[in-house]
Amino acid sequence: MTKISINKAIDFMTKRVYRFGGKNAEGNGQMRNLLGGKGANLAEMCTLGIPVPAGFTITTECCTEYYALGGGYTLELKRDVAEALAATEKIMGKKFGDPKNPLLVSCRSGARSSMPGMMDTILNIGLCSATIPGMIEKTQNPRFVYDAYRRLIMMYSDVVMEKAEGIEPEDGKAIRQQLDKMMEDLKEKKGYKSDTEITADELKELAEQFKVRIKEVLGVEFPDTAEAQLWGSIGGVFKSWNGKRAIKYRQIEGIPDDWGTAVNVQSMVFGNMGETSATGVAFSRNPANGDNKFYGEWLINAQGEDVVAGIRTPNPLNNATKSPQNAHLQSLEDAMPAVYKELDDIRVLLEKHFNDMQDIEFTIQEGKLWMLQCRIGKRTGLAALNMAMDMLEEGMIDEKTAVMRVSPSQLDEILHPIIDPAAEKNATAIAHGLPASPGGAVGKIVFTNADAVAAAVRKESVILVREETSPEDVEGMRAAVGILTEKGGMTSHAALVARGWGKCCIVGCEEMKINLAKKEVKFAGSSKTWHEGDWFSLNGAKGAVYEGQLETMDASDNPRFQKFMAMSDQFRRLGIRTNADTAEDAQRALSFGAEGIGLFRIEHMFYGKNSETPLGKLRKMILSKTDSERKAALAELEPYIKASVKGTMKAMDGKPVTFRLLDPPLHEFVPQGAGGKKELAEELGISTKEIDRRGESLHEVNPMMGHRGVRLHITYPMISETQFRAIFTATAELKNEGYDPHPEIMIPVTISERELRFQKAICEKVKAEVEARTRQFIDYKFGTMIEIPRAAVTSDRMARTAEFFSYGTNDLTQMMFGFSRDDVSTFMGDYLGNKILDADPFKTIDTKAVGKMVEYSVRKGRSTREGLKCGICGEHGGDPASVKFFHQIGLNYVSCSPFRVPIARLAAAQAAIEEELAEK
Ligand code: PEP
Ligand code: MG
Repeated sequence: MTKISINKAIDFMTKRVYRFGGKNAEGNGQMRNLLGGKGANLAEMCTLGIPVPAGFTITTECCTEYYALGGGYTLELKRDVAEALAATEKIMGKKFGDPKNPLLVSCRSGARSSMPGMMDTILNIGLCSATIPGMIEKTQNPRFVYDAYRRLIMMYSDVVMEKAEGIEPEDGKAIRQQLDKMMEDLKEKKGYKSDTEITADELKELAEQFKVRIKEVLGVEFPDTAEAQLWGSIGGVFKSWNGKRAIKYRQIEGIPDDWGTAVNVQSMVFGNMGETSATGVAFSRNPANGDNKFYGEWLINAQGEDVVAGIRTPNPLNNATKSPQNAHLQSLEDAMPAVYKELDDIRVLLEKHFNDMQDIEFTIQEGKLWMLQCRIGKRTGLAALNMAMDMLEEGMIDEKTAVMRVSPSQLDEILHPIIDPAAEKNATAIAHGLPASPGGAVGKIVFTNADAVAAAVRKESVILVREETSPEDVEGMRAAVGILTEKGGMTSHAALVARGWGKCCIVGCEEMKINLAKKEVKFAGSSKTWHEGDWFSLNGAKGAVYEGQLETMDASDNPRFQKFMAMSDQFRRLGIRTNADTAEDAQRALSFGAEGIGLFRIEHMFYGKNSETPLGKLRKMILSKTDSERKAALAELEPYIKASVKGTMKAMDGKPVTFRLLDPPLHEFVPQGAGGKKELAEELGISTKEIDRRGESLHEVNPMMGHRGVRLHITYPMISETQFRAIFTATAELKNEGYDPHPEIMIPVTISERELRFQKAICEKVKAEVEARTRQFIDYKFGTMIEIPRAAVTSDRMARTAEFFSYGTNDLTQMMFGFSRDDVSTFMGDYLGNKILDADPFKTIDTKAVGKMVEYSVRKGRSTREGLKCGICGEHGGDPASVKFFHQIGLNYVSCSPFRVPIARLAAAQAAIEEELAEK
């Protein structure tokens, strides 16, 4: 149980209970914190004159008080509830616990922010031996009364007598399951197909048997007074705040434990009183695609839980929204036209009032409509976009509100084909990994790079399943529709590359065990083995792995997307660049709205498509022994670098492109296979043994902190010279051809200004040579990555030479946490699960330390060089929460993979709007 300080207990003067009903309410829609979302909206509906069954809301503060008192109620609360109940009775013309004219109530939870399905509800409270006869007399319907009674027993014993008491039954032994089984047995014995066939007498008998079973299993009598049931239910709802499911949900959603839940006690109305009664749920617009059509489902002669439980196929609300599954069923519009009209008017009123799509619950009792709930409806990304644009056009909301209505993660959904949520709902995941790159993928599994490439040539969709990926797998990754790896974290090679391509990818799937030799895979918790060629479906946004072929859907073809993005851009201050290293990716990023390239990783030209020849030259250079060998190899390599650099600058005409010098340790490129070694040995005129020897000499124990980045270029200045010359020659040639290139040169893995000065001198010398040779004036910027704490701390000095900083937050996070970014997945789950960390720092910037370091560095850098341009090119550049932080600390731009550009644009616009609203 969460410990809540006794100091937080509320005093006796506080208002604990807020009444509503009869078109009046003590609370209102603004009081979510105190009344919970449900209570606040019930109050609001009442004051709007909408028919709501009368009742009252016990505040969230009382939940806190309940825990502070060790699970008890104050006399004040008892008194206030009694008074509110009396007021409810007056409005409804019935009395709670009265033998002749009994009022029944429901008891429902309601937190500040919606926690769907996490807490509990009890219906039909007040039915007991004293009130049942009166209820039968009034309704003249014993079957209805005993059906309501058996439902009360089932819900109450489950929620109040078992869950709230912290009883954890064995699988299949939960009281609710036992009672369900008794009812099923009865139906089977009698040969009934549906619950509705059970007679009144049988229900009466069943209820008695239920009570006997409850006593046997739980050791306590089922309460037989209305009063005892009411207080048991109130306590049950309070306790459900600390139920396992609710705690877990709060952890995931970041909802504080001490908010507490309100309790809504409300008069029961019945949708199961015969053919003029019904119940339903509806959305004021279609939540799947945003269509401005009233959309919902209803059931005649049923209670709310029947619609949600999916026991009967619900009917469509109206004729305009019938689907193939329910086209044969009668709509409410046809069955009860007057009620439908009233409901439709309420829909319009609610939307106008709340200025947003509403999710509503209603009941029709003997032809009279009652509203039980309204709230802002959840929606898909596509629906969010369409609704925002429609409501803007309808004049319901302004542009800023429209921009705030689509969350960046919903945009992500729109940009990738996704697994059809309907198909996913009916499937069970065989495993979960880290959701490295969103979207859905359906393909046959293959286990090697070569198999993936071969399958793609045959035009087959494949999912590449690997223990982990290395640069050698890039072609296979490109060929596959999705990638699934056993190891690796959110910034592992596979994750980074897949995100760059917008390709669905799940990494760190620790439950998976691959047998590469047999080309098969198993998952923990299953004895089944899957073989090459079997179908898998991946949901990259959730990290869920399914067997078989689930349906996918594509939501990206929406012309409104561009319009929405252009509108968002008006509010944005942060620049948005992209991480791209080919003309093709640059082109794609431009179409998504990138304003430049913030990171061109030169080494990426040695991976993937068309990389064989330049990679061969690079290998030759790496394994050269003498300066002259190395110089010759570099001379062969230079045209390839120039071509790659030139193609991308051409695509980005007029926009800045930041080229980063070679970053990884050289041994990563040493050939591993016998064929590659032999070829290289022949090229260099040496033995394969010598190749092995030279390769081994490059081996490092800790290569991430080894001879990489600028360090290589200090040891071998001719490697930087080659890259500078390639970039400047490409620039000059493009200028000659009439283009407008804006190169920026960036030095990685730096720790000292002296490294920068060392490199700048080489750069200036090469520039002068190229200018003389090409007779072109070359304008460029010289800057550095800040990815090592020493560089960040000495930023005032770094800025003497650097004209810009780009924060490499992948490495900066790695260095500051001391967590290896490639191996962190083995224990990150434990850190998150145990709440040692709130979020994966490789995904969302750790504002407490890494973010602080960036902020400090920006300030220090700008103290030397006013207006120093600062950006970020680590993976955090595409994470909405991180983008917001970078906006707040005054960076000039963020740079992210092409598919994330729109997400970063939207996140940056929302950060600016939020800031403006906060200032007001
Ligand atoms: C970084 O470290 O944040 C970065 C962008 O560089 P890389 O991921 O290539 O190490
Ligand atoms: Mg780095």
